[in-house]
Amino acid sequence: MKKAIVLLVILCGLGIYFMIDPESVSFMPRCVFHWCTGLDCPACGTQRAMHQLLHGHLREAFAYNPFLLISLPYLGGLILCRWFNNKGWFDGLKRVCYHPVMVNIYLILLVAWWIGRNIWLHNG
Ligand SMILES: [Zn+2]
Repeated sequence: MKKAIVLLVILCGLGIYFMIDPESVSFMPRCVFHWCTGLDCPACGTQRAMHQLLHGHLREAFAYNPFLLISLPYLGGLILCRWFNNKGWFDGLKRVCYHPVMVNIYLILLVAWWIGRNIWLHNG
């Protein structure tokens, strides 16, 4: 039942981001970190990128948040292993995705992306 709810929430979220362009409406949630600091958080641009990605516009999605696109296979692997591995089909993938080295590499890249995008944004 819990997995069905997770799947339903994911599908509803994808449906919302398919139908609604966050760029053209004002009611979509805004980034609190960006609002407070004027800087981008690692996830800034994710809603707009998801909308573009769901419409098959990879270049536009990449422009909004390249780290999201690069992260999607890993994040998808985490979700798959966490919520849909009841038969052990993804045990090998789980060992890779949840390995401390992999998690630490991902977190280091995330922080590097967070710092880097703000340096590039404010200098370019
Ligand atoms: Zn943000």
